[in-house]
Amino acid sequence: MSKPSLRDLEHHSAFIERHIGPNDAEVAHMLRVVGHDSLDAMTDAIVPASLKATGGLALDDAMTEVEALAKIRAIASGNDVYRSFIGQGYYGTHTPNVILRNILENPAWYTAYTPYQAEISQGRMEALINFQQMCADLTGMDIANASLLDEATAAAEAMTLAKRMGKSKSNTFFVADDVHPQTLEVVRTRADGLGIDIIVGPAADAASPDSFGVLLQYPNTFGHAADHAALAEAVHARAGIVAVATDLLALTLLKAPGEWGADIVVGNSQRFGVPFGFGGPHAAFMACRDAYKRSMPGRLIGVSVDAEGKPAYRLTLQTREQHIRREKATSNICTAQVLLAVMASMYAVYHGPEGLTRIARRVHRQASILAAALRKAGVSVGDAFFDTLHVTGVDAEQIHLYASHQRINLRKIDAGSVGISLDETVTRADLSALAKIFGVDLTDSAIDALDAEVDDALPASLARSSSFLDHPVFNTHHSEHELLRYMRALADKDLAMDRTMIPLGSCTMKLNATAEMIPVTWPEFANIHPLAPPSQTRGYRQLIDSLEAMLVEITGYDAVSFQPNSGAQGEFAGLLAIRAWHRSRGEGHRNVCLIPESAHGTNPASAQMCGMKVVVTRCDANGNVDVGDLRAQAEKHSANLAALMVTYPSTHGVFEEDIVEICEIVHQHGGQVYTDGANLNALVGLAKPGQWGSDVSHLNLHKTFCIPHGGGGPGVGPCAVKAHLTPFLPRGHHSADGTVGMVSAATHGSASILPISWMYIAMMGKTGLRKATQVALLNANYISKRLAPHYRTLYTGRNKLVAHECILDLRPLEKATGVTAEDVAKRLIDFGFHAPTLSFPVAGTLMVEPTESESQHELDRFIDAMIQIREEIHAIEDGRLDRDDNPLKHAPHTATAAAASEWTHAYPRELAVFPLPVLKQQKYWPPVARVDNVHGDKNVFCACIPVDAFKEAEDADA
Ligand SMILES: *Cc1c(COP(=O)(O)O)cnc(C)c1O
Repeated sequence: MSKPSLRDLEHHSAFIERHIGPNDAEVAHMLRVVGHDSLDAMTDAIVPASLKATGGLALDDAMTEVEALAKIRAIASGNDVYRSFIGQGYYGTHTPNVILRNILENPAWYTAYTPYQAEISQGRMEALINFQQMCADLTGMDIANASLLDEATAAAEAMTLAKRMGKSKSNTFFVADDVHPQTLEVVRTRADGLGIDIIVGPAADAASPDSFGVLLQYPNTFGHAADHAALAEAVHARAGIVAVATDLLALTLLKAPGEWGADIVVGNSQRFGVPFGFGGPHAAFMACRDAYKRSMPGRLIGVSVDAEGKPAYRLTLQTREQHIRREKATSNICTAQVLLAVMASMYAVYHGPEGLTRIARRVHRQASILAAALRKAGVSVGDAFFDTLHVTGVDAEQIHLYASHQRINLRKIDAGSVGISLDETVTRADLSALAKIFGVDLTDSAIDALDAEVDDALPASLARSSSFLDHPVFNTHHSEHELLRYMRALADKDLAMDRTMIPLGSCTMKLNATAEMIPVTWPEFANIHPLAPPSQTRGYRQLIDSLEAMLVEITGYDAVSFQPNSGAQGEFAGLLAIRAWHRSRGEGHRNVCLIPESAHGTNPASAQMCGMKVVVTRCDANGNVDVGDLRAQAEKHSANLAALMVTYPSTHGVFEEDIVEICEIVHQHGGQVYTDGANLNALVGLAKPGQWGSDVSHLNLHKTFCIPHGGGGPGVGPCAVKAHLTPFLPRGHHSADGTVGMVSAATHGSASILPISWMYIAMMGKTGLRKATQVALLNANYISKRLAPHYRTLYTGRNKLVAHECILDLRPLEKATGVTAEDVAKRLIDFGFHAPTLSFPVAGTLMVEPTESESQHELDRFIDAMIQIREEIHAIEDGRLDRDDNPLKHAPHTATAAAASEWTHAYPRELAVFPLPVLKQQKYWPPVARVDNVHGDKNVFCACIPVDAFKEAEDADA
């Protein structure tokens, strides 16, 4: 045997083999099953030659984990962490370490999927209902949702909710001039898309103009809390709706907006334990009147009952959402901010109402003391503040200079004023340093003396008297052991990728490698305020430029904006760019958006948000875009054609041959081609949308590029465009002149999770990325072929092969036996699997996307389960199992049911819970039986379950 060279040994990148599930022997075996000699031969048989990217990927070779971490460490060191008292919606916070390690750094939480499958998602839905309860309690509103993307987009959603609910005929929305500047900007962008007029003026004017709704901020962006009760009454008197942006910590001391007339309340939960992260991700929220709940945007967790009559959580009122209502949906929100909402809710569970109040009191005391010290120096600081001083009458330039000498950032307001926002991390040393900037010597004893002397700054009339967070969950887990075990108990109820593959079509659930996650919590990335001066954020700039260059190379586009913080937001940004481009050419009338009927629900919902008219085009019998119909529609709407939104490879899991022609047809009629990039995992290293004629795409970094799904967020949905659209990327992009306003609150969106995608690309390199795509194709075809004798794959492309996912058609089985795709999804839980995507894009089917990260062993485990389920269906067909009383209809089976002294089913207990022998060695027990969807939507209840509800269920049992 020849000895390997040191260079070969050194350059062997183990990461590629760690990320890609199957080893070489497994790849060889699976290729034989699929019927090809090599990955390249199989790829040639799947991907149309006309699409193949020329010249491979011009990226670096793969780095090892150690090398990549060292490189990104060097990038991170380009960021300089100052103490930031800038405020403006972002505040310092201590992430409790027990939450940092056991939620943010715990794959049981961060690798989970959106809780569509209620039975395996009870843990995270409990955490989310705690979030809803927390937001509803603190704001004094009836109901709150389970997170929005950021405060500014939440304010924009409040505007559209007000438009839907309002009785006023007005098309004008009034925004107070003392809301956060980024909130105003994002509201303006949204209003522009929908053709709503915005008036900005002093809050006091909100009563007079005739608008369908108003947006106030409480306390306002400069820190002042005004009593808006009379104003709210006046707005109501003219049938207007009052939306309020607020701060959750301030509300522990301040009268809740719901108690002085707010109809909708929005805000950010960032300061409940989630670091700055240069702007995100953080969980925003919306709370509102009960009467608005059926019109609310975003995810809502509700309480229903399971088949055993016990309370159980589920996503409620999904009929509002884009995946069902499409262009008539209440918003385009799909991915939200679940992981961050879970963190914030645990922060409230840990501190409880008293702990939160103590934190707020401390911050307020510090602000009052600092205010007194500055006033003594003859400086004006504002009044009726909670944590923020509006310092006026100063030479701001000098002040910022002195501040920077102390490595402190203050808010830039204008030449004569600055802002100072305090938070729970502020120490006495910080107070002294802040005072010193203004020439005041604030010693330890001077702090105590002022503390004795000065009153609180909040007016008595605005003092909060109502209680909040009374539910036991916020009053029980205050010791670290209690919280640790509570979080563990919740995580144990759920199936995430730390236990099983999650074979979801469209929502690529691949490995989220630990090394990718490591940099996220480094202080150089986590502790940077989004408005920190550029001299302190060079590291971020380098990271963003580097990742942009990588994605440009991978996609064939020319520029990328990272501002959109979800795929749907990326769609919105991309369509706005198309619209602005048409306008710039004097063709602003172009407003028709063609969307094939198989499209993801976010596509039509986003088009509607840009004021576009959605025209649905047909698919043919093979699931492809019906080119004839497309051509006819493009011709019919030629004068007004704005865009086509098309997913590639198609949502049906095939590489359509005609995509180049489709792009040409759209261009001939003056339209632009928007390619939904959620399926890029089938393309990386093989084909580039920017090369085959597409003009713009969003990418889902939380799918293809390894940002974990977090149980339903965070996400990053960068918008990638060809050069002609670059000037129309959302404002803040370094190469854009800002024709299109911001779509998110922060310039670079959820910047602090970009290191994950950077690490992935760096560690895979050009060879690894290409191979990953090929193995993703192989894994999908392996499943399709192995299951072919048992389930029909609905659509195939060239050479009878699928792309990276396959749709299993269960409709014939339903006809024959009454077994539905949903029954199969629920039965998979008894085997310990998360179900594939149910009934999208075709009702009555399951869409399976295994990804490259699953080994043959894991694929076989899934295939065995599916074959056993098919056997059970056969047994129903033959009459060996009853048509109604069979393990599919009653799945999933709980331990309670299996252990009950009486077993009433017509099939054996053992078949119910151990349908395969291997399950006796390792078994997942669902905490609830099948959850009743109809009951949940009829009896909408979206708060923590009252303790006696569990007792009632137990009593009924006994
Ligand atoms: C996931 C997905 C989206 C939406 O992305 P979000 O980040 O959830 O908003 C859009 N289109 C397709 C095809 C998807 O799979």
